[in-house]
Amino acid sequence: MNDKTLLEVRDLTVRFPTSDGVVQAVSEVSYTLSRGETLGVVGESGSGKSVSNLAIMGLLNRSRTAISGHVEYLGRDLLTLSPAELRKIRGKDIAMVFQDPFASLHPMYRVGDQIAEAVLAHDDVSKDSARARAVELLGHVGIPNAKSRARDYPHQFSGGMRQRAMIAMALSLSPKLIIADEPTTALDATVQAQILDLLLHLQQESGTALILITHDLGVVADIAEDVIVMYAGRAAEKASKDDIFYRPHHPYTKGLLESIPNSSAAAERLKPISGQPPSLIRLPTGCAFHPRCAYVMDRCLTEEPNLVAVGEAGAHRSACFLPARALGLSEQTEELRRRAVGEGRHAAAAEVAEAIAASPEAEGSVIA
Ligand code: SF4
Repeated sequence: MNDKTLLEVRDLTVRFPTSDGVVQAVSEVSYTLSRGETLGVVGESGSGKSVSNLAIMGLLNRSRTAISGHVEYLGRDLLTLSPAELRKIRGKDIAMVFQDPFASLHPMYRVGDQIAEAVLAHDDVSKDSARARAVELLGHVGIPNAKSRARDYPHQFSGGMRQRAMIAMALSLSPKLIIADEPTTALDATVQAQILDLLLHLQQESGTALILITHDLGVVADIAEDVIVMYAGRAAEKASKDDIFYRPHHPYTKGLLESIPNSSAAAERLKPISGQPPSLIRLPTGCAFHPRCAYVMDRCLTEEPNLVAVGEAGAHRSACFLPARALGLSEQTEELRRRAVGEGRHAAAAEVAEAIAASPEAEGSVIA
């Protein structure tokens, strides 16, 4: 941990024992976040992206959850703090913005009062000062006529305004880190762009670090510096945004990129990733992505790939057995992948590949 490090997560593992078996929600996730940095955490539902951040915030029921690893925030391991100590850090140091602002705001209280309440919970100020701060914050996040709108109830706000109010609440105590969990998923495309612009602007203005959790790789394109792609509770690929977008290594990342709508390719059909994410109770053997992977090879069925350096700089890491230099979306790279599959695929993996190819979404995308 150096001077710039704000948060260091090492081997974070979360398990939920259930009557059906143990849910392996998060497995050995590690990353470092510097002050003022933006990290995008991307994956489908059930990939562990939200659960890992709820664990960091201490928002999982500890009596029903097994959490291990280290979550060091400015040198203090959050996983070892008491609930009272964590409450002091939540809001004041680390704030969270959730997907559904209507569910996060109390319907019976005025929006301004709810933001003032957050200020009063952590700062020793008068009620009038807290209310004035709430109005100032609402204005700061772009709510017009903030003074009068602060007296509105949540149902009188539009979806975009409610999310702005939640961001105002998150900013109320000038946190060092904001965790935004699918902050734009419930909003239409225009408002989504406005909220992302707002988050980026506020983050640059105040130097707050930001973890942006989303299922949509397109959402992190303009905002994140580094990206972690999660699959089945594990980090499948970790890299700078440019490496993820222009030099992806893991077939799952490649699949996510190919499923982003792109205006220049409006006439082309999107390529969905075939199949469904696995059950976290009964994970596939070997690489958890193998039942959906166009490049599946024999060893993928039995061996679990580690997250290892690919490319030249060492910061780009991928959990996949394809050659480390198979980076990007070019035809040359595709040829490298094809060659590796040609050498590594025999009867067992060929059977899996045939099953993937037969799925309606695959349409010839599986390497023959
Ligand atoms: Fe997993 Fe093998 Fe596909 Fe890589 S090639 S993602 S290791 S199944």
